Amino acid sequence: MAVDKVERKDFKAESKRLLDIMINSIYSQKEIFLRELISNASDAIDKMYYKALTDDSIQFDQEQYYIKIERNQNNRTLKITDTGIGMTKDELENNLGTIAKSGSLTFKNENEIKDGHDIIGQFGVGFYSAFMVADKVTVITRAHGQDEGYKWVSEGATGYTIEPYAKDTAGTEITLQIKANTEEEKYDEFLEEHRLQEIIRKYSDFIRYPIKMEVTKQQPKEDNDQEFEEVTEEQTINSMVPIWRKSKSELKEEDYHNFYMEKRYGFDKPLSYIHINTDGAVRYDAILFIPENMPFNYYTKEYEKGLELYSSSVMIMDKCPDLLPDYFSFVKGIVNSEDLSLNISREILQHDKQLQLIAKNIKKKIKSHLQSLLKDDREKYEKFYDTFGKQIKYGVYSDYGMNKDDLQDLLLFYSSKEKKLVTLDEYVSRMPEDQKYIYYATGDSNEQIEKLPQTELVADKGYEILYFTDEVDEFAIKMLMSYKEKEFKSVSSGDLDLESEEEQENKEKLEKDSEELFSFMKKELEGKVKDVKVSTRLKSHPVCLTSSGDVSIEMEKILQTMPDNPDVKADKILEVNVEHDVYNALKSALEHDKDKLKLYTNLLYNQARLIEGLPVEDPVEFTQNMSKIIV
Ligand code: ADP
Ligand code: MG
Repeated sequence: MAVDKVERKDFKAESKRLLDIMINSIYSQKEIFLRELISNASDAIDKMYYKALTDDSIQFDQEQYYIKIERNQNNRTLKITDTGIGMTKDELENNLGTIAKSGSLTFKNENEIKDGHDIIGQFGVGFYSAFMVADKVTVITRAHGQDEGYKWVSEGATGYTIEPYAKDTAGTEITLQIKANTEEEKYDEFLEEHRLQEIIRKYSDFIRYPIKMEVTKQQPKEDNDQEFEEVTEEQTINSMVPIWRKSKSELKEEDYHNFYMEKRYGFDKPLSYIHINTDGAVRYDAILFIPENMPFNYYTKEYEKGLELYSSSVMIMDKCPDLLPDYFSFVKGIVNSEDLSLNISREILQHDKQLQLIAKNIKKKIKSHLQSLLKDDREKYEKFYDTFGKQIKYGVYSDYGMNKDDLQDLLLFYSSKEKKLVTLDEYVSRMPEDQKYIYYATGDSNEQIEKLPQTELVADKGYEILYFTDEVDEFAIKMLMSYKEKEFKSVSSGDLDLESEEEQENKEKLEKDSEELFSFMKKELEGKVKDVKVSTRLKSHPVCLTSSGDVSIEMEKILQTMPDNPDVKADKILEVNVEHDVYNALKSALEHDKDKLKLYTNLLYNQARLIEGLPVEDPVEFTQNMSKIIV
């Protein structure tokens, strides 16, 4: 072959960095390189299979498709061959010269990448992992439908060469020159028959194509069956049964975890998994995972929900969104059904009756799985809720509350009494007989809510208060309206309805006594508050704001931050604590100095706003007023 045909190239910067990590990796699970290469080989065969399904001129003869592992201890080489779709020259350059666009590097910063442990453990990095165990990698490949093959060689970060290479059939052959042993690392193991078998079974057992390897066997001698001789024989190492087809009893937690890793569902471990084998009206198998951590792009436009969809064990869609409701969009996994047609377009699939049935069934299974987690493993459930609880709340709120009955029992809120998360059911079952409502308070944090003056009265009655610290909380609750016939009530609502008759009478009397004062104040605050009233809820604070309509102050705050900024305001009521010295000062100002009363009214109104977390309306005026009362 002419020398000038050999092209020498550098890796793209990102890939180079990753290669450096791989080459110098101290990662203990170096064995995963084999999982990565086998998984690529299997993907390449899948692509052939899929092509054959959609193109009549191609035959897919199961016999012809396999993955082969060949080891040579003398030369220290390990070869992985597949009969898949192969790569063109461009594909070779693009796919192996550049790190796969998994985004794994772009959002990790340099520091985290330094020791490599994190990145390998969490992401896996495909083809490049070969460099953890090899100091030279040779890829010989020929793409399906092309006459020419290519040879790609790299000894690591220095770059790679590409040249034409005669190859008889389509497919790919990857040869690793296994590193020499060092004092710390024994690379020999990756050339040992038993070790390789073990790695294949551990990570790649369910690969649907045979993974073949020569194995040594003891066999009775032909002429004397009392004596044995060693023979080698090519065997299929993997069981080829897809994991979702296996029975649960056959599988260990580790198998599910490995599957999650191999499928790259997340960069973490699954928090929990669901294995479904159904044989009723809807027939399907599924393995679903709840990730431990929120995917890094979960709340971005890039995040796509969906499950992998297989029909008779052939992948037909890698992210079928119709299988998951939005509120379960964090669920990852795979669904296989024998009842779906292979040649089916996305559009048709959306309306497919069978698929809709499967989706409905999956929704139910996820829900009941979460319910049993809540019941049987509270700690795990709370971990889940901490990460994805917001989704459940959105689920209650969205689609006009269509799913609220399904989801309400999955909700948790922090309780003033228990000082931990409680379910609505737990709250209601603890309610004293005289308690009419489920009380809640809204704020930015539990600590902040604890200090709210509005909580004082309800807490004094000995009632439990749920703390709402997520923006969506109150919206979700308004959608729910009630739970087990108990209505929800904000501690900040105008009509708490907690007074006894006696207190009520007393309040009316006080209201009368303050009539002149309050109407003066109301006039001064025109357009800002709907009313000024005697407060029965305040203990140590002079004033607070409450609301009387459907829109609470918390909701006003949230609506103000929305993009189209709807001008929806809460009907605010300024409540005054008549037992507070401030009240007496107001009374006296009413008699002697009306200007002072105006000043006080404005200061107190803004003070009440501040406690609610609302901004002071006119900061300049406010600070000037502060100065006025000092001098
Ligand atoms: P990923 O598999 O996540 O895409 P990899 O680094 O494992 O990332 O592989 C990069 C790409 O190289 C693959 O997407 C595929 O296009 C190509 N590739 C790797 N191995 C093979 C193979 N054996 N046959 C065909 N293409 C392959
Ligand atoms: Mg890969």
